[in-house]
Amino acid sequence: MANSPTVITGGLVLTAGSSQATPADIVLKDDTIAAIAPPGQVTSEAAQRIDASNRLIIAGLVNAHTHGHGGLAKGAGDRWSLELLLNAGPSLNGGRTDDDRYLSTLLTAVEMLRKGCTACYDLAAMLPVPTVEGLHSISQAYADAGMRAVIAPMIADRSFYQAIPGLLDAFPPELRSIADAIQMGPGDATLSAIRAAAASWPHSDDRIRLGIAPTIPLHCSDAFMCGCRDLAAEYGLPLQTHLAESSVQRAGAMRRYGMTLTHHLDKLGVLGPRFSAAHAVWIDADEIELLARHGSGIAHNPGSNMRLGNGIADMRPALARGVTVGVGTDGSSSADNQNMFEAMRLAAFVSRVFDRPPDAWIGAVEALQLATEGSAAVLGMAGLIGKIAPGYKADLVFLDLDHVNLVPLNNAAQQLVNGEDGAAVRDVMVGGRFVLRDGTLTGIDWPRIVERARAAAARLTETNAATRASTERLASIVSRFCVGLGRCAHDVPRKLAADGGEQR
Ligand SMILES: [Zn+2]
Repeated sequence: MANSPTVITGGLVLTAGSSQATPADIVLKDDTIAAIAPPGQVTSEAAQRIDASNRLIIAGLVNAHTHGHGGLAKGAGDRWSLELLLNAGPSLNGGRTDDDRYLSTLLTAVEMLRKGCTACYDLAAMLPVPTVEGLHSISQAYADAGMRAVIAPMIADRSFYQAIPGLLDAFPPELRSIADAIQMGPGDATLSAIRAAAASWPHSDDRIRLGIAPTIPLHCSDAFMCGCRDLAAEYGLPLQTHLAESSVQRAGAMRRYGMTLTHHLDKLGVLGPRFSAAHAVWIDADEIELLARHGSGIAHNPGSNMRLGNGIADMRPALARGVTVGVGTDGSSSADNQNMFEAMRLAAFVSRVFDRPPDAWIGAVEALQLATEGSAAVLGMAGLIGKIAPGYKADLVFLDLDHVNLVPLNNAAQQLVNGEDGAAVRDVMVGGRFVLRDGTLTGIDWPRIVERARAAAARLTETNAATRASTERLASIVSRFCVGLGRCAHDVPRKLAADGGEQR
């Protein structure tokens, strides 16, 4: 990389905490922002110049929770609860080759980049057990797209059917045998594969980092969860789990552990600064307190929570208590698009359904901060990405000021959060290098990827047809049982934070 500085000139720059963008030049040294300078101040002949006139420049958005494996399964399901989605999991994500994993992740990465997102936390499913080669295929997709990522294999040692207390017994014998046949790989083999991947991880920590994702606490035996905890500690891996995403999970925890999920994880020693909770819809004030005390984070996915009927996660009490909150889209089978502009907007809007005055709502500047710096902290990349400031990586999104979304530009932050849909994104830079330039992806042959992805999806539809047919037979019992169990969550006293507004 050139040693002479690069200067991005002529743009309007939106910095953290501001609602208005101002004319400024951004000076880059290698892959890092060296300075923000008044326009025209850098006069060095040696400096390379990038013309950003007519562009609004913002920090790359960061997706705190997604699933690259959703890329090939988009459009699946409609009136699906989380539990119906999990019932369909083997038919959506099964039978995949490493090339399928690469393609699915690449589709997800491309959508994120095109919509202004430069880094993500990917909880990657690999059934029945993860492999080092599979993880490398997934990381190659991010490397080719030019995106930063945490890749956390999504793992468990219990099937969904084993995880929900009482569910297996709800099936008549002919259906129970279908549910019994769906098994996770042995926990030891799963953990060994991740250990092997961690010991030889080929990417630098600031580009593509390995994480670990014991998928849902109820799906993990205590021994397995502790194995994940120990691997995370040994290799410094970020650890994320779907925490209290549905009422079923809260009620299931009370049945299995006699305590909330967060208290259970605390008892096992899983909470800590490397820990983040995806969703956290069904947590109470004591659980927020635990997360705050351990310096843990939350990945807030309001679109997914509404799509799957899980409810609305209330972030204000967590923010007030100092919990790090990032924003995520969730995967393409549950959210569905990978549009961080929409996720930010929903994070702002859903904060207004609780009985609180407007000054307690999440506003545009705060929503942007959560979707950049907040998510960066969830990825374990605080101080590295998520901000246009000296010392931060040059992950920048350039929006076309002539696009109708931004004409006229009255208030940059408010228009980006409340109105932008990603259509005004023209260029995206990651680490000082354009990965999207004038609307074209620079690292991949898109027409070829389109062909391969269509072929893979068609083949997987056929491969998984029998699994789909059999899990569909389970769906009505799964749904009925889980609706009943989820209602029990309302019987568990749920202590609201002192400033916690009741949902309207
Ligand atoms: Zn998820």
